[in-house]
Amino acid sequence: MRPPENPAFAPVSAPAATLKRLERLGIRRRFDLVLHLPLRYEDETHLYPIVDAPYGQPVLVEGEVIAQEIQFKPRRQLVVQIEDRTGTLVLRFIHFYPSQQKQLARGRRVRALGEIRRGFFGDEMVHPKLREVAEGEPLAESLTPIYPTVNGLTQPVLRRMIHRELDTLPLPDTLPDAVRTALRLMAFDEAVKLLHRPPPAYSAQQLADPMLPAWQRLKFDELLAQQLSMRLAYRARRQGRAPVIQGDGHLRQALSANLPFALTGAQQRVLVEITTDMAKPHPMNRLLQGDVGSGKTIVAALSALAAIEAGFQVALMAPTEILAEQHYLKLSAWLEPLGIRVAWLSGSLRKKARGEMLADIADGSARLAVGTHALFQEDVAFETLGLVIVDEQHRFGVGQRLALQGKGGAPHQLMMSATPIPRTLAMSFYADLDVSVIDELPPGRTPVVTKLINNARRDEVVGFVDRACHEGQQAYWVCPLIEESETLQLQTAVDTHLQLSEDLPHRRVGLVHGRMKPQEKAEVMAAFSRNEIQVLVATTVIEVGVDVPNASLMVIEHAERMGLAQLHQLRGRVGRGAARSTCVLMFEAPLSELAKARLKVIYENTDGFEIARQDLQIRGPGEFLGARQSGVPMLRFADLEKDLALLESARGLAPEMLKSWPREAEAHLDRWLAGREHFLKA
Ligand code: ADP
Ligand code: MG
Repeated sequence: MRPPENPAFAPVSAPAATLKRLERLGIRRRFDLVLHLPLRYEDETHLYPIVDAPYGQPVLVEGEVIAQEIQFKPRRQLVVQIEDRTGTLVLRFIHFYPSQQKQLARGRRVRALGEIRRGFFGDEMVHPKLREVAEGEPLAESLTPIYPTVNGLTQPVLRRMIHRELDTLPLPDTLPDAVRTALRLMAFDEAVKLLHRPPPAYSAQQLADPMLPAWQRLKFDELLAQQLSMRLAYRARRQGRAPVIQGDGHLRQALSANLPFALTGAQQRVLVEITTDMAKPHPMNRLLQGDVGSGKTIVAALSALAAIEAGFQVALMAPTEILAEQHYLKLSAWLEPLGIRVAWLSGSLRKKARGEMLADIADGSARLAVGTHALFQEDVAFETLGLVIVDEQHRFGVGQRLALQGKGGAPHQLMMSATPIPRTLAMSFYADLDVSVIDELPPGRTPVVTKLINNARRDEVVGFVDRACHEGQQAYWVCPLIEESETLQLQTAVDTHLQLSEDLPHRRVGLVHGRMKPQEKAEVMAAFSRNEIQVLVATTVIEVGVDVPNASLMVIEHAERMGLAQLHQLRGRVGRGAARSTCVLMFEAPLSELAKARLKVIYENTDGFEIARQDLQIRGPGEFLGARQSGVPMLRFADLEKDLALLESARGLAPEMLKSWPREAEAHLDRWLAGREHFLKA
């Protein structure tokens, strides 16, 4: 509970239009203004004589306008010349308003802040920041903070509002003195005041340094808030109630007896972890990680059977129609012989079929329901839902997962993912989950050979495909990703299909893409599974989960456009059978540095964890998480890779703080997280 009388959490008072703009910056409470920290600083403390002003850095100069004209070549622009005691300088404006023309009339005195560069007609500043001044006007005493803002909210207005709060709000420290001393952290109020109103002694460079004690303090506070909320969420879950699930094992034994393979040690171990969790009266929230092809599906099936044995229903949700359908086919083939009804629920079901499925799920005659997000629409009701399994969990938003969780008490939850979570993320955003890892691939897999081939050698690649087919193998051919246009992407897939059909006249070439009806897609996939189609041309829809062991060749066009996780997933579609498999990454030269770095990583590594780690390094955690999709609020100040030491000390402090200083912990969370409901407060 937040003390209502705390003025820091009162709403900002300002005109409605300003409030709307502040809202877009995430500012609602007065305290949010305090946490709205500068992006950078401008130096208006020092005036350079025009002739002495250095190039390559922003400088402030002052002078009188001695000439003004509008030039028309190469395009319409305003060109103004100013002069001080030492020399003259050209100010150039490609976009300008009549008001600026007036401001820059001859005889006016202005200060211009910007970078000087050598222009065709001598030294010039393009689009400087301008201010009209009187002669001898005093300079700023300290650096000017520049804040993130939106249209219509000017820097001076924002600055004034922030300064008002700094002057009037009490800013007590939420860290106990003992902690602050032990961790050698700056006081909170000192830190924010320093950043908002830097004392004259500080240079812009010093203030930009992430190691500055003031920034360290803010980063630490932010990380601590995250750790505290994760611990509270974990604790709340531990205190929540869920059904105790203890099956007698008869269905699991029956399925195991029917399998053509034995479980790996890793699969057995994670199954024990999962069933032990489900036997407890608190909701399981477990992430099952295993590299592509490590055999998560059978683990899901056996976990489901454990719940079904004990009289509960199970829901299995997959992010795409193709993947859900594959799960449905596989799981019903495994479970129906044991007398268990498996229901299928997707967005594309006809009304009547859907109605029947819903009835079967509601009255409990279906024990397992497999589907896409159609599974958690409002009209889906279970009789006794005990376990929810989510495949490729990182593709779902947090909200979607929670919606399913809300169905029928608190079921146990098992999330599966082939995208490994690097350690820093596991310690932060995923800290409320328990994790099981399948760290062993089924035996008899031959590692996939990766080749990088220039697009110019496409004929050779077609030759590989032909040879593979000749040897009874099958191939995927993945079309380039065209982010800008789905239509173009589709067109490319259709063209590629035509071209390959021509290039390979005696092979059957099939096509799947995102715009096909689910039924059509399923038919093509089924034909590919039966080897009636030898070459499957696909857009990236086959990215996840598709399992056709006889396919041993994967061709990816324009691999340079794809992300590492995606490439790793695609490559994982082959190498599942006994035949030696190859993944051909075609690329268009010349490659950008980033593309080169990515292709090097995928070429040199086969281990998904290592790829994810390097991916994180290349991209940073924000993009890695797909923050906007996942609904995970990103860190504003801290950087998970660079601030590992701070993250570790925040993680160490969080439990101690909850135990020994609960009031401070609460005040800290209120300060940082109020209004961010998805942080799941206890
Ligand atoms: P993923 O973890 O990527 O979802 P799958 O569950 O699709 O992997 O499994 C990949 C393939 O490996 C499937 O064909 C599956 O039947 C097979 N498989 C799973 N476990 C084993 C095992 N212990 N021994 C042999 N093959 C296995
Ligand atoms: Mg899978």
